[in-house]
Amino acid sequence: MDLSTPLVYVKGVGPPRAAALESKGLRTVEDLIAYAPFRYEDRTNLKPISRLAPGEMATVIAEVRTTRLGGFQRRRLGLFEATFADGSNAVLLGKWFHGEYLARVLEPGQRIALFGKVEHDAYSGDLLMLHPEFEILDSGEDAESSLHIGRIVPIYEAAGKITTRAFRTLVNRVLESLAAPGDPLPESILRRLSLPGFWQAVRELHFPPAGADLRTLNASRSPAHFRLIFDEFFWLECGLTLKRAKARVREGISFELNDRVREKIKAMLPFKPTGAQKRVLAEIARDMAAPHPMHRLLQGDVGSGKTLVAAEAAIIAVENRYQVAVLAPTEILASQHHFYLKNLFAKLGYAVGLLVGSYSQREKKQIKKLIAEGLLHVIAGTHALLEEDVEFRRLGLVIIDEQHRFGVMQRLHMMEKGVAPDVLVMTATPIPRTLALTIYGDLDVSVLDEMPPGRKPIKTYHVAEDQLERVYSFLKKEVDNGRQAYVVYPVIEEKEAQALKAAEKMHRQLSEIVFPGLDVGLLHGRLSADDKEAVMNGFKRGEVKILVSTTVIEVGVDVPNASVMVIEQAERFGLAQLHQLRGRVGRGSDQSYCILVTGKLNDAGRERIRTLVESVDGFHIAEMDLRLRGPGEFFGTRQSGLPAFRIGNIVRDQDILEIARSEAESFVNNPPSQDDLRKAVAYIRDHWQRRYGLVQVG
Ligand code: ADP
Ligand code: MG
Repeated sequence: MDLSTPLVYVKGVGPPRAAALESKGLRTVEDLIAYAPFRYEDRTNLKPISRLAPGEMATVIAEVRTTRLGGFQRRRLGLFEATFADGSNAVLLGKWFHGEYLARVLEPGQRIALFGKVEHDAYSGDLLMLHPEFEILDSGEDAESSLHIGRIVPIYEAAGKITTRAFRTLVNRVLESLAAPGDPLPESILRRLSLPGFWQAVRELHFPPAGADLRTLNASRSPAHFRLIFDEFFWLECGLTLKRAKARVREGISFELNDRVREKIKAMLPFKPTGAQKRVLAEIARDMAAPHPMHRLLQGDVGSGKTLVAAEAAIIAVENRYQVAVLAPTEILASQHHFYLKNLFAKLGYAVGLLVGSYSQREKKQIKKLIAEGLLHVIAGTHALLEEDVEFRRLGLVIIDEQHRFGVMQRLHMMEKGVAPDVLVMTATPIPRTLALTIYGDLDVSVLDEMPPGRKPIKTYHVAEDQLERVYSFLKKEVDNGRQAYVVYPVIEEKEAQALKAAEKMHRQLSEIVFPGLDVGLLHGRLSADDKEAVMNGFKRGEVKILVSTTVIEVGVDVPNASVMVIEQAERFGLAQLHQLRGRVGRGSDQSYCILVTGKLNDAGRERIRTLVESVDGFHIAEMDLRLRGPGEFFGTRQSGLPAFRIGNIVRDQDILEIARSEAESFVNNPPSQDDLRKAVAYIRDHWQRRYGLVQVG
């Protein structure tokens, strides 16, 4: 038997069991030994029944004396009762509600290990365990030799009919008949981090040594856990580092960045860039000048000024006689970019175009022709830009805004419209750097961590639904002072119709009853592109005072005079999304406000709202969101080339991820020897490539 042996050939695993194991993704011996217990139980407190005290957790080994399914009343509850004795002069009672099935499991005379909290039974005066964990022991099995009692035992998630107990037996059998495999981690790293060897870690993961700390085990931080989690992350990070190194030698465009280009940028800039904007542009410019395609992620909180940086990058491309595509997830955002860039580039004489799905066939055809002929320098658009028949004459730079709305595939698709163009991806949902480098695998990361000067932090309030009147009077006061406001109905896509109705109703209420005589606009996904633009432009010019909207404005809209954001039914939305919405205000020098209106909240909802009220830091909020929702939902399945880790959890184990990443980088860039590196590449290829989706690492 070795690591690659299929489980179906392991003693005690026939085809039916193999199928059950397979349903958990366990096919080989290697899969099984990586199947970590989801918790551990301390069964070392082994006591005779007569010595038990109510309130303690204890393990008892005893014989089943009597069993019965409860009497008339209690039968309806499925109450199953059993008594146990161990010759120590006392009786222990066990009770299970909905325990009918136990009538077929437990029978008098069996030897059994019970584990649970000891209580005092008010009916009989006996000692009682309610719903104890139990295991029927084989004859002759005792605490010394048992895998299941008298020690800290692993608890596994069952797989079909394979119980946690069966897993324990199976894992133990495999561990005993497997020759200790070699340690895949480089010796130097093992030593530097004082990690236990692979084989020791695997054994202690399943059967912790005597004296191990239960809390550390259950927090997945025992030395064995650390080592095995580190393994997963280290090999992934090595793969990513290799992949990135490979991309760096691929041939791409080398944009020239000379004084003329610098002059153009200076001429365009409407204000002095922040220090962060300067630093990030330098990173981008260096990438663009290099003769390899740029793959860079620009992370910055809402309002940090990403668009300006993107515009600077666009100038570098255009001045080198290349075209620039700006891809945005919604028509509103695409036309906003169009509008913003057209203004910025007017002085430079660039032709800026827009292509969106709702354009008529004729309009589309016209724009596509201009793109193909190279007459448009910068073209903003939505998914419509991805269509087959959109051909560029000389695409040199692709800018993708709000990355989380686009999948990796779409990014690749867009890149194919040029010859190895540079790619700049922007996102307003910032996450810690190491996490970003892991999730967005092949991207380098730049961070805008400074807000443009003169901003006042947005004040956020939570208001209950039945207090809307107060919100109205507040709106009125702000509008009287010359400000503008958004009122948003966030929607989940499929509920668009419902939200639209609510938004329409609110629009009527505000325009007819609360603010008669004021221009109150209504914006939603069903409007034509022209109508959307008309409403948005009215709002930008300050004629429309209050903009009632569904979530279409979530990303990117930029109207500095708007200072109030009212979000209805805020409890139904993710933190990151609410933060995005809030980021539509606080863009000017006036004090801005965000008012979160909710119905009754559950605990999780209250936690989310509190996070927003207390913090305006996008990094902090994204992290909370990640923790609350978990990486799968946070990044979406479509988005992430996120590998399924067995033991590691990139959110819980970020500290280990950091260490693994820096170790991997120095290992790949400065391997102890070329032979070590070759071995590592081969190991990744054999063991991790498929799972991590690392196509061609070496
Ligand atoms: P985001 O990062 O959310 O996309 P934007 O690019 O929309 O942010 O910028 C937010 C606002 O800040 C815009 O009104 C923009 O013109 C303004 N802005 C950007 N950079 C600066 C700067 N250096 N100084 C002052 N205002 C700036
Ligand atoms: Mg933006």
